[in-house]
Parts: sequence; structure tokens; C-alpha cells
Amino acid sequence: MLAALTMALMIAVVNQKGGVGKTTTSINLAASLAASEKRVLVVDLDPQGNASSGLGVRKREGDDRPTVYHALLGEHDARTALRETEIPRLHVLPSDPDLVGAELELVSALSRESKLRQALQPLQNEYDYIFIDCPPSLGLLTINALVAANRVLVPLQCEYYALEGLGALLKTIDLVRNALNRELELDGVVLTMFDARNNLAKQVTKDVQEHLPGKVYEAVIPRNVRLSEAPSHGRPVLLYDIESKGAQSYLQLAGEFLERHGDRGQERVAR
Ligand code: ATP
Ligand code: MG
Repeated sequence: MLAALTMALMIAVVNQKGGVGKTTTSINLAASLAASEKRVLVVDLDPQGNASSGLGVRKREGDDRPTVYHALLGEHDARTALRETEIPRLHVLPSDPDLVGAELELVSALSRESKLRQALQPLQNEYDYIFIDCPPSLGLLTINALVAANRVLVPLQCEYYALEGLGALLKTIDLVRNALNRELELDGVVLTMFDARNNLAKQVTKDVQEHLPGKVYEAVIPRNVRLSEAPSHGRPVLLYDIESKGAQSYLQLAGEFLERHGDRGQERVAR
């Protein structure tokens, strides 16, 4: 019996503001989906490499294995750069400090905005979900993620300037959709580091819900110290403290995500 091939849903995790929970969301949503039997890849497109190290993949001195950098520049097949993690079915395409230079190296390249799409194409049938953890800017690396992706997931910290940044991001998504990737859609907004006692957080939540009806995930990620400790152990919070509020909130987010996306793994078994 032949299993039908499903194309991975590719989700760029984007917010040009720094420190809002992009990497924490990429790692922990991906891990929670892998824990429910999905095949998941995290592409670490940030030169800081936090998604790689948070999943236990660190670049060591003298380690010359290929990374996302080599895949992006077309020097190596992305497949040769894949690494396994402690969680079965969860893989990482690790970052590289040299990514800092990639934006410049790509400037003169032909269709420089589509390099990541080309690099990830051969992996599309091998995963149910591919998350691209973006750096905190709307530069060429993030544009590459938006051209490769079908969906954009925006982690949003509920604070005063959150909505302002969101406007610029939505405009960028429109530009990319019109010029380079007709399929691109906003997947949703995840509220992160949420403090329910904070009135501003409540007000911002209300504003985002009004501005983007139906797009804000009901699962909200609270501020939780376990989430900030887990990366220093190179583990998703699921493997660090599954009982914690942080772990439970990402499991809840994964459940809602699967409901919204019609559980792709099931489709695969269907035929
Ligand atoms: P950057 O823009 O630098 O890539 P980012 O948007 O990826 O940042 P994270 O690295 O996920 O943001 O989070 C920033 C910091 O806040 C990290 O130290 C992380 O461990 C911590 N953090 C993220 N989410 C939470 C949370 N819900 N509760 C507590 N700490 C959190
Ligand atoms: Mg990050």
C-alpha cells in the first residue's frame, strides 16, 4: 500500500522585534507537535543560533558539518545538514554564525529572495510541518523565510508598542505575497510572556483580536521561568519540566494548531 505524499506546511515564525518569543515558540510548538507523532523540522535562520542550541545542537570548534548557511548558498544539499534531536521525529537544520554574512553574500545572487525556498524544496515531502525561526529583522533572511513559507506565525508580547510593529510586519507580508509568493497567509498571532494581572496586556489582547479577527490563538503562553531555563539544558520544555505551565501552554497551542490545520499526519495515512 502506497502512502500518499503530503507536502509539509511551512510556517515562518516572524516578528522584527527582538526577544518576543519567536525561538521559544518555534522550539516548543515544534516539540509538542513531534510529541503527537508529527514529523517536524525546525530551520534555524537566525545567526544567533538559539533554536539550534535550545534543541541541543551546538556548533563546536572544528565542526565543519554543513548548516543552513551552506544550504542557503547552494553549497550543500539541505539534507546533509539535518540533525536529530532528543525528540524522535523532530529535526533541526542548524544555524551558523556565518549567516551574518549571508545577507551580503546574497546581494548579487540571482533570485536571492528564493534561496531558502529552493534549498528546502527537496525536504517538503519528508515532514508534516517545517518551522522557520527568523532573526529579529525584516531583512533578506526573513524575506527568504516569507518566500519559502505558506504561513506566518507571529509571537506577540502584549506591551505598548506591540501593535505598531505588527502593522509593519503585515505590510511586509502583503508585499511579499504580491511580488514573490502568492500562497503566503497569516497563520495567526500567539500571545507570549502573558501576564493576566497586567491591564495593558488585556488591552493589547483586545486590540489585536479586533484588528485580526479569528487570527489570535486562544492558547496563551504565560511568563514561566521553566521556559527560560530549558534552553540552557538544550531541551524543549517538554523534556525539562512537562508539568510546568509553560510546557502545558505549548501543548495546548499545538492542539489548537492541529485543529486549525486539519491534522496533516492523518491525511498521509489515509490512502
Ligand atoms: P530574538 O529576537 O533575539 O531572536 P526571540 O523573539 O526569539 O528573540 P526568545 O529567545 O524566544 O525570543 O525569548 C527571549 C527571552 O525570553 C529568552 O531568554 C527566553 O528564554 C525568554 N522567554 C521566552 N518566552 C518566555 C516565557 N513565556 N516565559 C519566560 N521567559 C520567556
Ligand atoms: Mg530568536
